[in-house]
Amino acid sequence: MTRQDPVAAATDAAAPAASASRARRADWLDALATMLERNREELVAIAAEETHLAAARLDGEVTRTAAQLRFFATVVLDGSYLEATIDTADDTLTPPRPDLRRILRPIGPVGVFAASNFPFAFSVLGNDTASALAAGCPVVVKAHPGHPRLSRRVAELSRRTLAEAEAPEGLLGMVEGVEDGVALVRHPAIRAIGFTGSTTGGRALFDLASSRPAPIPFYGELGSINPVVVTEAAALARAESIATGLVDSFTRDGGQYCTKPGLVFIPDGDAGDRLLTALSDRLALAPSQTLLTEQMRTAFDDHLAAGELEEDDVLRGYATEEQTAPVIVTIDMERFLSRPDYFADECFGPVTVVVRYRRRQDLPQALEAVEGSLTATLHLEPSDDVTALVDQLTARVGRVIFNGWPTGVAIAWSQHHGGPWPATTASVHTSVGATAIRRFLTPTAYQDCPPRLLPPELTDDSDIPRRIDGALVVP
Ligand code: NAP
Repeated sequence: MTRQDPVAAATDAAAPAASASRARRADWLDALATMLERNREELVAIAAEETHLAAARLDGEVTRTAAQLRFFATVVLDGSYLEATIDTADDTLTPPRPDLRRILRPIGPVGVFAASNFPFAFSVLGNDTASALAAGCPVVVKAHPGHPRLSRRVAELSRRTLAEAEAPEGLLGMVEGVEDGVALVRHPAIRAIGFTGSTTGGRALFDLASSRPAPIPFYGELGSINPVVVTEAAALARAESIATGLVDSFTRDGGQYCTKPGLVFIPDGDAGDRLLTALSDRLALAPSQTLLTEQMRTAFDDHLAAGELEEDDVLRGYATEEQTAPVIVTIDMERFLSRPDYFADECFGPVTVVVRYRRRQDLPQALEAVEGSLTATLHLEPSDDVTALVDQLTARVGRVIFNGWPTGVAIAWSQHHGGPWPATTASVHTSVGATAIRRFLTPTAYQDCPPRLLPPELTDDSDIPRRIDGALVVP
């Protein structure tokens, strides 16, 4: 690895970061949030130049990123994330039970691959970094080449902020370029990887992490089609509002969201006709967008070309030369089932595929052909019996949305931003929400440990929520 070897610095920082009190770690996160807000204007300007995203959207993303950092500060202070569990010694049991105390501990230095489409919220100081720092792990970020100047500036400001907050040197480092990214995954001191990006890239790096002499967990968020089902009753009752919501959601910021609704099942007949007319009307008002990179535009055009679509299959919005127009592809269920690998394949950018179904009974087979996703959405009316549909969707996605839209991922204790492959490489985890911290923690059980050697949260006078002899104790 070139330059001053951020991984070596992170390795040195691991012990002091792990032993720093939760209050100190919360202070570091708060300081980073404040730094972002103080430098908002400069950072948004660089990001807008590098990503073509609107300044207003980027400004909102800075707010979100600061909120994420502060959210993880509250998670750390709360302490329940440690899953502290105490079973006191009991000789009357068979077999006898020693004094056992279990807690989650920081896993060690973490590598984070930044995403292209969230230059703040999933980049140098994004969710992966915030949750790893909260857990007590040093972080080495692999910068995304889509916003290199922004990444360098945020890294530089972060290092200065952390130094002022007297955090261990090397707590947050950064590398750039494919080679250094590969070296990061291979480095024996790195204990886990967080990744947000393409299915191909994520799979290659996942395989690399697994093929190390000592394999490490790889938490990748990859591709997601995010299916939507609209019932006939919902289409009849709310064609205009569903059309507005769908177009706004799939064209938002050029459709460059992992939660973009990319596949929509709507009924045939009058209800479907009304919805399609409303979609067409709304599409005419939808904004076009210059995509994040030239490669993404090429990939978008290539994907549409590979569909061998007829003119009648495509509703197209308006765009200037350098921008990409939003597109709605409309097909029937037979066409979908003849090529689900194409129509249910994620295409990054402003396109969604609308499939018309004649019979509700055909939906289970169609949904079975859709791979794991981050989300699924149902538009329904009170009269609809969708229990079986909900059961099917919950087995295939991480978050089910009712009468809403999947873009916009709230920062919350209950959030789950994950899902079965290929949405993620580890369906039991999330990259947004309080439990994102769990990815960077590993359990240790202390048996008959002298109190002076226990982590403070496991001693008898700790004040965090714990399970003691089977009962939850909340101070
Ligand atoms: P990408 O091409 O996979 O790149 C992501 C990062 O991984 C970059 O830093 C890239 O480095 C590195 N990388 C990729 N393949 C590699 C390999 N074989 N060896 C070493 N490093 C490798 O993804 P992207 O183009 O930024 O993002 C677009 C795609 O990501 C879309 O398909 C989108 O759906 C998905 N995405 C998913 C989410 C989510 O939350 N699930 C969020 C955003 C994007 P270099 O570029 O330097 O090679």
